[in-house]
Amino acid sequence: MISRGSESGSDTATFLVFQASAERRAERLGHVVGPWVAVDGEPSARTARCTICGAVAYLRSEGGLVGVAGALCTEACDGGAAEPG
Ligand SMILES: [Zn+2]
Repeated sequence: MISRGSESGSDTATFLVFQASAERRAERLGHVVGPWVAVDGEPSARTARCTICGAVAYLRSEGGLVGVAGALCTEACDGGAAEPG
């Protein structure tokens, strides 16, 4: 049996893996990641935001390729702990 493409089951598994790695990256930058939610009009995308500073990450899956974009995974959280000094 060959199944490919847009089965929601495999997409969900893929999302979970990348959500976890995106969360790890965000937490290393000081963010506290809120729940992942669906994006309006984009069935293959999800978004999450930092509950402290509101930085957003977009996770998008197309044809088995998953990409993450957004400040949540690239910029340090500035709404929480102040830097010493
Ligand atoms: Zn943050």
